[in-house]
Amino acid sequence: MSMTPAAAGPVRAAPARVTAKVLKGQKALVTGANSGIGRAAALALGEAGADVVVNYVVDDQAAEQVVAQIKSSGSDAYAHRADVSQESEVQGMFRDMMERFGTIDVLVNNAGLQRDAPFHEMTLAQWNTVIGINLTGQFLCAREAVREFLRRGVVESVSSAAGKIICMSSVHQVIPWGGHANYAASKGGIMMMMESLAQELAPHRIRVNSIAPGAIRTPINRTAWQTPEAYARLMTLIPYDRIGEPVDIARAAVWLASDDSDYVVGATLFVDGGMTLFPGFATGG
Ligand code: NAD
Repeated sequence: MSMTPAAAGPVRAAPARVTAKVLKGQKALVTGANSGIGRAAALALGEAGADVVVNYVVDDQAAEQVVAQIKSSGSDAYAHRADVSQESEVQGMFRDMMERFGTIDVLVNNAGLQRDAPFHEMTLAQWNTVIGINLTGQFLCAREAVREFLRRGVVESVSSAAGKIICMSSVHQVIPWGGHANYAASKGGIMMMMESLAQELAPHRIRVNSIAPGAIRTPINRTAWQTPEAYARLMTLIPYDRIGEPVDIARAAVWLASDDSDYVVGATLFVDGGMTLFPGFATGG
């Protein structure tokens, strides 16, 4: 599996930009960080000055490559293999992070997958795998992060918040998706989990927010952009007329992790080129 999928169809890329070190001194953990959006988020957090734990579950080499790239940008990083749906592995990963980095300031709850099937053919295993990784995985990681945020509290010299959690949701937290009931249910669940956590934890100056990506060019949705025909079909859903790139999401993650977004609490930031604007109604419906 290539980590930076080759371009297919007409491409208008995300514009380039130099990142300031807005996360200097912060410790971050990104789940599913050796591919796609998680990889881009880990690199961007590192570029912004954070030290990063690169969580992954398969492909050590890809994870080590992300680590090397973060180190070359001047931040510290290491890779940690753990399945986010397994409580003991998640707890071990956080214990290890406390030993190596001392604390956590930013959690990017990104790991996720799809196991698609027409609803009447969906197996319990397909349902449980998606809910277990996409939703329960976010619960398990968020809980460990929050325990540390509460223990440590605010360190003003590092951040005005005691901690930040960024949940990777999807436009499918609001757009129903036939053939993907398990995935849509997991993302709808993330929305209410995120908002409930944000409400409960804001008094402790812990900020919990989500990013809802639209169609982003990663291995998870390769069939939607790989051929010119598929790309053209996809564009009928995207008013801004380009596919999203992982860096589009990574930049949003850096902003949500930084004090620049200090008053943003319990929000879902849609980064989707207008996919949630009901483009079918642009010409009267
Ligand atoms: P991807 O397949 O490139 O990356 C997913 C990552 O999660 C991989 O590193 C994978 O190994 C990891 N992962 C899977 N199961 C895991 C587990 N049990 N424990 C730890 N890591 C695990 O896909 P992506 O597009 O980068 O997806 C990242 C997130 O973005 C997912 O939550 C996905 O639902 C969300 N998302 C993606 C898009 C898109 O268009 N690409 C749109 C909306 C939301």
